[in-house]
Amino acid sequence: MSKRTLAQLDASHLDGQRVVVRVDLNVPIADGVIGDDTRIRASLPTIRFLREHGARVVLLSHLGRPKGKPDPVFSLKPVARELEKQLGIPVTFLPDPASEAAAAEVRHLPRGGVALAENTRFYPGEEANDRALAARFAALGDIYVNDAFGSAHRAHASTEAIAHQLKPAVAGFLLERELRFLGDAVGQPARPFVAILGGAKISGKIDLIEALLPKVDKILIGGAMACTFFRAMGLETGKSLVEEDRVEMAKRLIDTAGDKLVLPTDAVVAGRLEAGVATRVVKRDAIPADQAMFDIGPASVEHFAAIIREARTVIWNGPMGVFETPPFDAGTLGVAHAMAAATDAGAVTIIGGGDSAAAVAAAGLDDRVSHVSTGGGASLEFLEGKPLPGVAALDDAS
Ligand code: ADP
Ligand code: MG
Repeated sequence: MSKRTLAQLDASHLDGQRVVVRVDLNVPIADGVIGDDTRIRASLPTIRFLREHGARVVLLSHLGRPKGKPDPVFSLKPVARELEKQLGIPVTFLPDPASEAAAAEVRHLPRGGVALAENTRFYPGEEANDRALAARFAALGDIYVNDAFGSAHRAHASTEAIAHQLKPAVAGFLLERELRFLGDAVGQPARPFVAILGGAKISGKIDLIEALLPKVDKILIGGAMACTFFRAMGLETGKSLVEEDRVEMAKRLIDTAGDKLVLPTDAVVAGRLEAGVATRVVKRDAIPADQAMFDIGPASVEHFAAIIREARTVIWNGPMGVFETPPFDAGTLGVAHAMAAATDAGAVTIIGGGDSAAAVAAAGLDDRVSHVSTGGGASLEFLEGKPLPGVAALDDAS
């Protein structure tokens, strides 16, 4: 069921309306200084559109995990200052968005004005999806827009309960874009359709593998995850990260997946994890007992890249190695470059997953792929075919 979007609302009706927008401003902050501002920038198109049409914009977001009570460490105040810079207007900060004072303050916003509410998780009712708290948030507006894809897999007061109380309840531009890219990729992929999975653990991605297997033409496995498959094949994995309790499952996947499943054929190994440490490239059946695999090897990179370059749809989740510690970033970079080449050749290329997105951004390739998802957990659950409560609660498209 597709959902009603902000673009589908009659924009002339936005003039003077108070619009509550659930955004994802969950940015890293250390000592009051914002690190990566990607999520702030990603929320701007919806905010700007509303302002241009004369709406009065009230932003709701969570930040970190403050455990249901106010904690200055998790205050959104620094984000209000950053929004002022990026929007070039003053932003009213609402220290207690559940209060009558906040509602009064919002009524005094000028047309095109913007207010940012304090961290929704300062209230225990947020994560409990409490209807009374949602009613307080709903009292701040006339229209609800959810643009927080990164929080859409959580049924919280500001993402789920509020959408039943404040109507119309529609998807903002970012949420719409995420649903379109991820939805089309798994729903009607141009083929060949290739998934690339990596990262530390297979355990968090079993549902993803099982959901994708019937849909993809190839599934490429890298990261430490590959080592659990190696163990399932009876290979020596040395000191590599292996999830013993998933080896049986990996065996089953190897049997059912047939030649859809592509594993690395070689590995970059070292005695310990350290930048610039001496490394060796070995065949996957020759991992020394006293060493660990920290990256896929060059032959695997070349094999993966060849498959990726031929694909028409590619979804990538999870780095190929310990990319944070060079030289173990080579496999991840190789895959990132192959993604860029596939994009240039007309493929739809999507990156979902916090660490993979960070790796691609660090390589300066984030604008050479079709779409970098802003929601790690949310994109996983969506690709697994699970309903996202924050999306389900929105109005259906007519
Ligand atoms: P994402 O956030 O993209 O979904 P994950 O969180 O699943 O990715 O995994 C990322 C982590 O996996 C990184 O910190 C990376 O260092 C680690 N990793 C990848 N390959 C290996 C490996 N061979 N051994 C140990 N850790 C690995
Ligand atoms: Mg991660």
